[in-house]
Amino acid sequence: MKILVVNAGSSSLKYQLFDMDENKVIAKGNCEKIGIGGMITHKRPGKDDYQADVELKDHDDAIALVLKLLTDAELGVIASADEIDAIGHRVVHGGEQYKESTLITDELMAYLEANISLNPLHAPPAIKGIEACRKNCPGKPMIAVFDTAFHATMEPSSYIYALPYEYYENYKLRRYGFHGTSHRYVSGKVAELCGKDLADMKVITCHLGNGSSITAIKNGKVVDTSMGFTPNEGLPMGTRCGNIDPTVVPFLMKTLNITAAEVDTILNKKSGLLGVSGVSSDCREVNAAAKEGNKRAELAIELLVHEAKKIIGSYVAEMNGVDAIVFTAGIGENDRALRERICADMDAVGIVMDNDVNANCPRGEAYELTGKGSKARVFVIPTDEEYMIALDALKLAKSLK
Ligand code: AMP
Repeated sequence: MKILVVNAGSSSLKYQLFDMDENKVIAKGNCEKIGIGGMITHKRPGKDDYQADVELKDHDDAIALVLKLLTDAELGVIASADEIDAIGHRVVHGGEQYKESTLITDELMAYLEANISLNPLHAPPAIKGIEACRKNCPGKPMIAVFDTAFHATMEPSSYIYALPYEYYENYKLRRYGFHGTSHRYVSGKVAELCGKDLADMKVITCHLGNGSSITAIKNGKVVDTSMGFTPNEGLPMGTRCGNIDPTVVPFLMKTLNITAAEVDTILNKKSGLLGVSGVSSDCREVNAAAKEGNKRAELAIELLVHEAKKIIGSYVAEMNGVDAIVFTAGIGENDRALRERICADMDAVGIVMDNDVNANCPRGEAYELTGKGSKARVFVIPTDEEYMIALDALKLAKSLK
């Protein structure tokens, strides 16, 4: 069976076509500069990449082009769009309503439209991506896979903010958590690698990338995660501040005489690694500056390490132990020094990493990094959110047959 996975951003649309019988990606690519020009990169394993500037007025144009390329006599990998059994869409926010991947219906679309305020950045492009697929592939089964869904098992004690309760009742102001598809994928994978059932394990998954979150999973269920109402809670990230005293907000508004929207921009776009280092939001560039002696760059990295340790330690306490800890995403998978710093002096909470193995393990594959005397097993596991989405879409396609 063939599954198309679509991840629509405001000016981009990424796609992957999976052959699920062979468990492999047969084509993938990215439409960029949608609405502001347009270009596409289309890749097929073992063949030359195709790249072209093509006018893409909107997501509709982008999906039409993707389908044209996938079925093209020369560049394509399938004879017609009929070969696609289902389409899986990454949708960031499912709110309280959607706690698992769900068949896309008019009702779900109405819910997404009505709840744009929960996720003003990501919801509109996701809606556009789905609408474009509905138009270009009418009748094709489609599934929405939500970043928030995996975290829906949290108890109120983990998701309620200590604010006046009516804000939760009236505005659904609560913690949701994000990156759920990634946390779900790597937690499943670590159980497999440990030869255990996730339902019998206590796992901490560290998704450290441009956006970062850490999740505690006990007996297969998320009990806590570091992101909250928005993806700007928890760890300091590329440009997001993560945890701060909330009273900083009115202080900045008064002191700088700026609006709520301006504070929002500061907290989301000008903070984190970029804000502290003044160098870059990109961890590699901040690392390079720190190596050259830039003190603020070193401090920015130390803030990330410090917060990660605090969150991991608190999750061990919350679960009364941990069997496995996983590092994933751009920083988690590649930055060996950062992994070593996070795991250093954590033996009191049962975590010891083998620094030699960590320093020499191959990139791009799952690898065990557990050190001597560690109670928890330590792993690096490349994440694959698209494959997870494809698996959910496959399940749906099979259930409809
Ligand atoms: P992601 O959001 O998962 O794509 O991760 C992006 C982040 O991963 C950026 O901050 C990159 O600098 C970081 N990253 C990628 N490769 C490396 C590397 N070799 N060392 C350190 N950070 C890296």
